[in-house]
Amino acid sequence: MLVQGDADKKIWVDFQQRVAKAPEQVLRYSRSSGAKPLWPMASGRASKSEIPNCKSCGGSLCFEFQVMPQLLFFFGGKNDRESLDWATIVVYTCANSCDSSLSYKEEFVWVQLYSQTT
Ligand SMILES: [Zn+2]
Repeated sequence: MLVQGDADKKIWVDFQQRVAKAPEQVLRYSRSSGAKPLWPMASGRASKSEIPNCKSCGGSLCFEFQVMPQLLFFFGGKNDRESLDWATIVVYTCANSCDSSLSYKEEFVWVQLYSQTT
């Protein structure tokens, strides 16, 4: 059985291999049904029970886009995990796209932090 730290390292390697195909990619966007965020780590992922329902219509929220850690490179930070305190930021929006007439609508944002064990 893998300890949590080893699982994180393996997922981190997989993640790096995926993003290496598009290293300039700082935002992953998808509204296709069933799309899932690309998690850099095993720990700290949003589970279904942690994603609330839409505050407007009560429907389910779905993955809309995620901010990749490479974004910090463009802000002048070093693009290595030691200089990051977050792994990815995932934004969930209403699956029904309700209340599109509102100029401001609260969405659900999940920040995956680097675990202390790795
Ligand atoms: Zn809604």
